[in-house]
This record gives sequence, C-alpha cells and structure tokens, in this order.
Amino acid sequence: MSEAMQPANFIEAIILEDLRTGKHTDIVTRFPPEPNGYLHIGHAKSICLNFGLAEKFGGKCHLRFDDTDPEKESVEYAEAIKRDVKWLGFDWGEGLYHAADYFEQLYGYAVELIKNGKAYVDDLSPEEIREYRGTLTEPGRESPYRNRSVEENLDLFQRMRAGEFPDGSRVLRAKIDMTSPNMNMRDPVLYRIKRADHYRTGDEWCIYPMYDFTHPISDALEGITHSICTLEFEDHRPLYDWVLENVSVPCRPQQIEFARLNLSYTITSKRKLLRLIEEGYVAGWDDPRVPTLAGVRRRGYTPEAIRDFCERVGVAKKNSTVDMAMLEHCVREDLNQRAPRAMAVLRPLKVVIENYPEGQVEELEAINNPEDPGMGTRKLPFSREIFIEQEDFMEVPPKGYRRLAPGREVRLRYGYVIKCEDVLKDEDGNVVELRCTYDPATLGGGTPDGRKVRGIIHWVSAAHAVPAEVRLYDRLFTIENPGEVEDYLSYVNPESLVVLKDCKLEPSLAKAEPGDFYQFERQGYFCADIVDSKPGELVFNRTVALKDSWARMQQRQQKK
Ligand code: ATP
Ligand code: MG
Repeated sequence: MSEAMQPANFIEAIILEDLRTGKHTDIVTRFPPEPNGYLHIGHAKSICLNFGLAEKFGGKCHLRFDDTDPEKESVEYAEAIKRDVKWLGFDWGEGLYHAADYFEQLYGYAVELIKNGKAYVDDLSPEEIREYRGTLTEPGRESPYRNRSVEENLDLFQRMRAGEFPDGSRVLRAKIDMTSPNMNMRDPVLYRIKRADHYRTGDEWCIYPMYDFTHPISDALEGITHSICTLEFEDHRPLYDWVLENVSVPCRPQQIEFARLNLSYTITSKRKLLRLIEEGYVAGWDDPRVPTLAGVRRRGYTPEAIRDFCERVGVAKKNSTVDMAMLEHCVREDLNQRAPRAMAVLRPLKVVIENYPEGQVEELEAINNPEDPGMGTRKLPFSREIFIEQEDFMEVPPKGYRRLAPGREVRLRYGYVIKCEDVLKDEDGNVVELRCTYDPATLGGGTPDGRKVRGIIHWVSAAHAVPAEVRLYDRLFTIENPGEVEDYLSYVNPESLVVLKDCKLEPSLAKAEPGDFYQFERQGYFCADIVDSKPGELVFNRTVALKDSWARMQQRQQKK
C-alpha cells in the first residue's frame, strides 16, 4: 500500500486514518450472515465490501455465522452461504467462525454484567416489557424487578440456563436507562428462554443471547477492527459500544454503517424471498428469477460481473435503489468479452432452399467472438434445409422491415443471400415452411450486381441442429419497487418465465457443459442450466437479453 493512497469511500478513509495514527496495524473485518436463508445480491455488496477491504489493506476477513436464533437456522443454509461466498471469489482462509461457538463465553460475559450490577433478570411478560418500554415521545418505566440483588440475579440467570423456567417467562436485561431517547438503550433484552434445537449446539442450551449482545462480543473475541453493517443498525451503535465498555473483552472494534443495496424490480429480503418460494411463485432459492446468489449463478450471471457491479455501486451513507439495468449492464459487459457466439433458433420456421443440391453440406466459417479474435473461428454446416426464426419472416411486412417476406431477400449470417419464393401453410393458415432460392455468388458478403440486401438473420442447418429447451427469464416484478409495497406478491411478472421446448441450436453446442455460457446471436446471453441440462437433453437459460428492452419500453411510454 502506498503512502499516498486515496480512499475510495468514507470507510476506507476511516481505515487509512486508523493505520496512519497507529490505532491499528492489521485490519480485520467480517461478513456475518445469519444462516436463515440464502444470500442475495444485497449480501454480495457486503461481502465485496468486507472481503475487499481486507484484500486492499492486506488484512483478513472472517466469515462468521451469526447463528443465535435456532428456530430459523439450518445447516443447509450455512452450507449454501459458504458455497456462495466462495463462488463470488472470496476466501475466508482459517477465518470461519460461529457465534454459537461463543455461547459459553457470552454466558460468562452476561454473568459479569450481573456481578457489576449492569444486568438483571426480569419476570415481566413480553407484552409488559413492550408496554413498560414507552414510545419515541414518552419515556419508559422501570420494571419492578429491576433492582433485584446481584445474588438473586445470578441465581435466577443460572436457573434460566438450567431449564427451570418456561419459555418466555423471564429474560435477562441490561440495566441502562429507561428514559433514554434511544429506545435501544431502554434496558434491552440480552437473553431469552427458548427451547429449540440449535443446528450446531443441539439441546445444550435453552437460553439464547440476542443479536445486540452477541455481535459486539463476537467482534471483540475475533479481534475485528472495523465492524461494518447496514444503516438500520445505526441506532444500535450506542448499545454496541455500551456492551463493549461494560464487559472485559480483549479489544474494542468500531461499528461503521453504510447504506444497504436495494435493486429495482426485485426484492432483497430473505423473509420476502422465502414467501415467494413457500407460496410457489418461484421454484426455490436457486430459481433463476430470484436475486439470490444461487439464483443469479444459475441464471448465468458471473461472479466477475457481480463484483464489478458492487464496485460501481460504491459505498454510500444514504439508502437508495440501484437500477436493475445497471446490474444487467455489468453482466452484458462481462459476457460480451468472454462469451463465444453461437446460432440458436428459438422459435423455428423451416426453410427449404430449392436450388441447393440435395445431400450437399458446406462448412461455413464463423467467428467465435468479434471482441476477442483469440477465440478463433468454427465451422457451421449449411445444407438445403435450415431453420430460421419465425419472427424473421412476415407475410405482410410493415415499412422498414428488413428481413424475409415473399419475394424478398435476406442474408444468412456467415452465408448466402436467400430469396423467399413461396409460403406453405397448414389448414389453419399458419405459415409452416418457406420455399427459398439462394444466390451462390453471395457467400462472404456483397452481391455480384451490387444490389442491396440489408437484413442479416441467424439460422441453423436442419439436419445438423441440436434440439434444446430454452427458458427465457425476465424481471420478476412488474413494478419498480416491490420491496416497498405490502402486496408485492400481486406484482409478480406473469411473463418472468417463458419456456420454449423446440429450439434448434448449431451443432457445436452439443458439447455444452452445465454452466457454459454463449451469446446466441441477436438473442442475448444464455447458459446451459447447471441443474437440468445434460448432454443430449440441453436446457439453456437466458441470462440477459442483448439490449435493455425495459428502458426502451419506458422511453416509448414517456414519449406518448
Ligand atoms: P435480510 O433483510 O435479507 O434478511 P439480513 O440483514 O437480515 O438480510 P444477515 O444475514 O443478517 O441478513 O446479513 C449479513 C450481512 O449482510 C449483514 O452485515 C447485513 O448488514 C448485510 N446485508 C444484508 N442485506 C444487505 C443489503 N441489501 N445491502 C448490503 N448489505 C446487506
Ligand atoms: Mg439480519
């Protein structure tokens, strides 16, 4: 790190200053998920920030499971979280921790608070506690149990642990200030009785510590220097500091808050995502439509694109919503550089080229990625029967239509110019086949007589085509801010998934492995589904369209 390093944001400025003054020499951060659901794109922001700071300043970042609420937590979630952090490209090394592993120490610190007259066992019911707490405009009242003796508190707390009292009948509270303007300081609950099996500690405990007590102590036990969290914890910071000041922990981490990442057209809340899954709106935590990391991975978003996105979003002190288009832009930019091009016909229409010899096959040369000549070229078989996209033909073309129509010409990508001579229909009048001719003198661009052929369409040789299912994904919600409305479920986009069963891919795609990504020319970026795709039964997901059709739709609406 150079002396003159410029901070990229206010957190880096704090860290740089701490290094300069010698307050810290080694930076330690942590990412502290609760294993009560899958990580989402908002968590990616926090992961990139915490692990990114550690990388930048030559420090460490711990992965710590904030697992003190047994009822909603599970091994499945914890394992999924580890997988996702790794997938994003970060490594916690030796630094894997669990708040549950501190239960004994946390208990000891609670006893220390009691001994110092800083905590007491309260027999009020949860409702009474709420009532006594007061409101933002009214001070709270002290519990009648607040002035129990240290001995009585120690005895009761020990018996809470021993399981002598029913769930919810007693709590341990910090003795701070019932008149504090900050509600979090009005004798917050530190421990509650809850008989529930914990995924790590089983039935060893029937009392569980609260987040506000657990978090600062966990940070201190791990030597965290900068405990970075989202803005909703700003009002908890005085309590964070109070806990650290009043127990004999080995060090004093600093809590710093930043704005959470919100994305338009989707939701970033585990609770709300869980509802979407439980009520069947999506198939699961890894449904490619949900913004979980498991979902976007399956969709085909790359870790590189997500890290780039988090970088561009930056670190702010004020909450805001980032446009989904920006994330999609990052995905396109990354895939544009790296995705091999391929031809895929999603809604096939058969074309017979009448003047092309039966049984003849030609190998046409195609460029794998115009952005990267190093990716080379490949051969595309061409023959008398091909598939084109249904929408690349119109019997009665509107003005400006440059593709195929009766009597008109179009160029086949990397191939010849063909002309539509005849249209075959079924008894319902649907176009089922085109009869065309080709001009042998048009291979490789241009026409012998200089006539203009403006449209270029993609195609696949019928005899060589590889069948596939293609799943077209679109935004999950039809409104920009589903996270802000109560009935967000009624705004689920009914067209967020369209399944096409009869797609035709160029033969080179037969070897596509799950997870391989391509640009299907003119269609967008696609990847072979990591769950359902297998050789011989290919399934592709549309990761993102080539252009932002939502922005164009909005522009059109604004013009009206
Ligand atoms: P959710 O509201 O989705 O349940 P959470 O904050 O309860 O999220 P945690 O598992 O507690 O989930 O989060 C782990 C860390 O990720 C926390 O430090 C939290 O501040 C951070 N985080 C969660 N959501 C976001 C977000 N949208 N943007 C940035 N950081 C986030
Ligand atoms: Mg949380």
